[in-house]
Amino acid sequence: MTALFSKFRSIIRENISLSSYSTMKVGGPASFAAFPKDGNTLSALIAEARENKIRYIIVGNASNILFSDRGFDGLVIFTTAMREVHWDGISVTAGCGASLTGLSATATKKGLSGLEFAFGIPGTVGGAVYMNAGAYGSQVSAVLTESTYLRGTEILSRKAEDHEFGYRTSVYRSTDDIILSATFTLTPKSPDEIALLAEKNMASRKAKQPLEYPNAGSVFKRPEGAFPGALIEQAGLKGLRVGGAEISEKHANFIVNRGNATADDILRLTETAQKEVYRRFGILLETEIIYIS
Ligand SMILES: Cc1cc2nc3c(=O)[nH]c(=O)nc-3n(C[C@H](O)[C@H](O)[C@H](O)COP(=O)(O)OP(=O)(O)OC[C@H]3O[C@@H](n4cnc5c(N)ncnc54)[C@H](O)[C@@H]3O)c2cc1C
Repeated sequence: MTALFSKFRSIIRENISLSSYSTMKVGGPASFAAFPKDGNTLSALIAEARENKIRYIIVGNASNILFSDRGFDGLVIFTTAMREVHWDGISVTAGCGASLTGLSATATKKGLSGLEFAFGIPGTVGGAVYMNAGAYGSQVSAVLTESTYLRGTEILSRKAEDHEFGYRTSVYRSTDDIILSATFTLTPKSPDEIALLAEKNMASRKAKQPLEYPNAGSVFKRPEGAFPGALIEQAGLKGLRVGGAEISEKHANFIVNRGNATADDILRLTETAQKEVYRRFGILLETEIIYIS
């Protein structure tokens, strides 16, 4: 290992393949990847990266990210080891790297309602707050009461009303702040009733989404009054393939990796869908998946 980041030896790796760390199973090498377990280590890592003019990015479970085939020339900080969870009555505070689906499953067992929508979303708590993840009529903003975040070397907190939540967005999308934890306040309900709803949501996911192939969730955000999947299907693009990537036969707002897809294959399909939907319907689809290059 180079002298760079040498004091983080136990949590840092050099030259890793990003494809193994993304749900799309696509992406070239990253010069460095780090897996800090707490906010102080995260802050120290960033300080060293800045001092040495190394680019860095924060990544949760990379379930909403497409990594470039050329990889990332810099430091990729994965939050997945920052996953402590503390339950306190009807509230729960979870580290940014905790699994959203795991949290939803525990809430169900405890008879606490509010996170049923999250069961099956394969991201972390931090990624979910950043994106205001949602499904089946609910979203993070409906249950989040507070988050803590790192700004420079300071740890600060933010109340629910200061998150500027919108459709798949929060205040974090327009800052360099790093979410460290989130507190959700839930509502007591019968565990059977909660489990029934979570299972119903999961069954609907399995029926409609191409979970049998690597993917990164919905490719496009929902435009006002329309569904991207229906528009792409009406444009005749369902099943279209470029290299190893396919506009899913099962749901046209998903691009799946049928084996050895590259990020460039996926970008070409994304652009084709955007152009064709615009040409036919005059609707400009905006991507939900974040491209990192
Ligand atoms: C099969 C499948 C189904 C999905 N279903 C849904 C769904 O129903 N609803 C939905 O909303 N999404 C869905 N998604 C998309 C994705 O799972 C969510 O957006 C999820 O919240 C992303 O979390 P993540 O940890 O993977 O974030 P990542 O993909 O790792 O990151 C997403 C963005 O968040 C930023 N980020 C992550 N952690 C932090 C942090 N701690 N601080 C600051 N910024 C951070 C990253 O820099 C990046 O810009 C689905 C994805 C898949 C693969």
